Amino acid sequence: MSTAKDWQQVESDYYMQTVRRVPVTLVRGKDSTVWDDKGKEYLDFVGGWATATLGHSHPAMTEAIAEQAATLIQTSNAFYTVPQIELAQLLIDNSCMDRVFFCNSGAEAVEGAIKVARRYGALHKDGAYEIITALESFHGRTMTTVAATGQPHYQEGFKPLTPGFVHVPFNDMAAIREATSERTVAVMLEPVQGEGGVNVPDPDYLPAVRAWCDENNLLLILDEVQTGVGRLGHLFGYQAFGVEPDVMSLAKGLGGGVPIGAFLTKDHADALTYGDHGSTYGGNVLTTAAARAVIRTVLEEDIPGRVRASGERLLGALKGLADRHSSIAEVRGMGLLAAVQFKDEIAGDLLTACLERGMLVNRVRPNALRLMPPLTLTDEDMDKGVAILEDAIASVSG
Ligand SMILES: *Cc1c(COP(=O)(O)O)cnc(C)c1O
Repeated sequence: MSTAKDWQQVESDYYMQTVRRVPVTLVRGKDSTVWDDKGKEYLDFVGGWATATLGHSHPAMTEAIAEQAATLIQTSNAFYTVPQIELAQLLIDNSCMDRVFFCNSGAEAVEGAIKVARRYGALHKDGAYEIITALESFHGRTMTTVAATGQPHYQEGFKPLTPGFVHVPFNDMAAIREATSERTVAVMLEPVQGEGGVNVPDPDYLPAVRAWCDENNLLLILDEVQTGVGRLGHLFGYQAFGVEPDVMSLAKGLGGGVPIGAFLTKDHADALTYGDHGSTYGGNVLTTAAARAVIRTVLEEDIPGRVRASGERLLGALKGLADRHSSIAEVRGMGLLAAVQFKDEIAGDLLTACLERGMLVNRVRPNALRLMPPLTLTDEDMDKGVAILEDAIASVSG
């Protein structure tokens, strides 16, 4: 073991300094617990950035990966592979969508959805190309998904941006009506905004957007990279709001920690054909074998149903914290995606206090923490986490 090595010092000399990392070097994980290189244990409420659908080192995943790795790792999309086709069937048979394309990340999934919309506009709407997206949204870090993202700080220094995105306030139907023109081809939204601070819309918002899209022949694209695969207590987030998208993107939870993304369309929105899109690694046999194990387990063990129950329990516990601690301004969330917002900008201090006490959390805003634990979080681990958070709050803000 490399006990003496200061990995964080090595990183600072070699790695591009684009992410302010938490000063912890993680080496191992099991269920909702991870360990650092000094053997210290943490309850993981970051969950691989909302990817740990089955927790860390779930046997269904580790066995599927080990078996596939020993059999066949990569073929390219010039050939058929069984895990890719079975994963496609699992997603289509259990969703409202008709077709899927696999890629390698969330940003690529959104890129694919945007290409679908652009082609749909070219084919069916006189070349309409504009996509209405929301302020405070997050859609990825490639040039075009940065342009789609409704947060200017991700765009600074990268101009000119890909044209064709119009940003409106989230949860504001009138703003979408006003922004719609003959150039508009689609509306793209997260069912619940994740990186924007866990913003849950009013129940009538997405149904109203759906109706508007139907009236105006616009595609409704739901970016379910963070909300899909059980996170909100439904297999897909759209089910929580009683709407069906025309196009949907998935990534984070789909791979359970293995890099895979997907974009899916209904038949009428399936605008791509031979030669229009491709990917060397997209739908790779190793990652689709892993994701197939994730989705099978999610369905067999009714993980979405469990998340509905544990999500309500977590929100209840966080609201209890808000009753006892006046430093808390608001608690937001759905399923196992939650944020605790504070009156002051103390999220950084709280993150440090949680680390000291053995818990990982995400500072999603200077004044807010986000919790996105594995979907398999037990009540016992939830109670431990909430107790640590309460102790941290008491130490930072009294
Ligand atoms: C994380 C995220 C993305 C980007 O996914 P990457 O895998 O980081 O490229 C896109 N959309 C949403 C809603 C996300 O939460």
